[in-house]
Amino acid sequence: PEPRTLLVSAHRLDPSDLVLVLEDVTDLRRLQQIRTEFIDNLGHELRTPLSTVTLLAETLAREAEIAEIPPRMRDRIALIEVETGHIAQMVNEMLDLARMEGGSQLRLRDDVDLARLAVASAERLRLFAERSGVTLVTETEPDVPTVRGDEARLGQVVVNLVHNAIKFSPDGGEVRVAVRRAGDDIELAVADHGIGIKRADRARIFERFYKADRARVRGGGTGLGLAIARHVVEGHGGRITVESEEGLGSTFTVTIPVVAPAPAPAAPPAPAAPPAPA
Ligand code: ADP
Repeated sequence: PEPRTLLVSAHRLDPSDLVLVLEDVTDLRRLQQIRTEFIDNLGHELRTPLSTVTLLAETLAREAEIAEIPPRMRDRIALIEVETGHIAQMVNEMLDLARMEGGSQLRLRDDVDLARLAVASAERLRLFAERSGVTLVTETEPDVPTVRGDEARLGQVVVNLVHNAIKFSPDGGEVRVAVRRAGDDIELAVADHGIGIKRADRARIFERFYKADRARVRGGGTGLGLAIARHVVEGHGGRITVESEEGLGSTFTVTIPVVAPAPAPAAPPAPAAPPAPA
C-alpha cells in the first residue's frame, strides 16, 4: 500500500490536556501536485507555438507600417501583436508560479539592498509612469541594511507592485516607493492614490488569476503578479500586505527580516508546528 501523508497538529486545552489532530492529506497533496504539473506542462506546450506566433506578429506589424494597406488592417495587426504579448507574459508567469509551487527553492544567496532595488525598479518604470501621467517618487532611508535573498526575484516583486500602482493610478497621480528599517525588518511600501481595492477583493487579490476590476486599466495584466509576489516574499520569511480605501488608493507593504530565516519548503505548506510546552 502507498504511504499516506498525515498532518499532525497539537493543541493544548489547559495544562493537563493536549488534543492531537491527525488529518490525512494524501489526496489533497496529490491533487495539488497534479494541478501544478498540469500548469507546468500546459505552459511548456504553449510556449513553442506562442514564440512562433509572437515572432510572426512582430514581423507582420513591422511590415504593416510601411505597406500600402487599409489603416483598419494595420490596427488589427497591431492589436494581434499586443495581445500575443499578453498571452506570452501570462504563460511565462504561469510557468514561474508552477515552478515555485512545485517547491523549487528560491536561492537566498545575494545581499540585497532593498533601497537600491526600489530606486532601480522605479527607474525601469519611469517611462511607463510618464506615459501614464503619473509622478514616481522614491523615498529611501540612508544606510538601510541589506537582506539575504534572491535579488532577481525581489526585483520582480518591486517592479510588479510599482507597475500595478501606476496602472491603477489616474492621470496626474503620484506613486511613492518608500524603504525604511522597521525593527528587525526592512519595510518597502508602494503607495498610490488610484482606484483602490474593495474590502471583499482585498482578501483575494493574492490568489492566482484574481482580478478585482475586469475592465482593464492601462494595458492588460495576468492576475498572477501578486500571487508570485506573495510566494517570493514568503520564501524570504517576509510578509506582503495591503491597505486600501476604495477610490482613495492603495498601499502594498513588503517586510523582509534583516536576518535570513532557515530556508522553508516553498510548497506544499509545512504541517503546523506543535505549540510550545506551556
Ligand atoms: P494584474 O495586475 O496582472 O491583473 P496582479 O496579481 O498584479 O495582476 O493584481 C491582481 C489584481 O489586484 C488586479 O487585477 C487589480 O484588480 C488588483 N490590484 C493590484 N494592485 C492594485 C493597485 N495598486 N490598485 C488597485 N487595484 C490593484
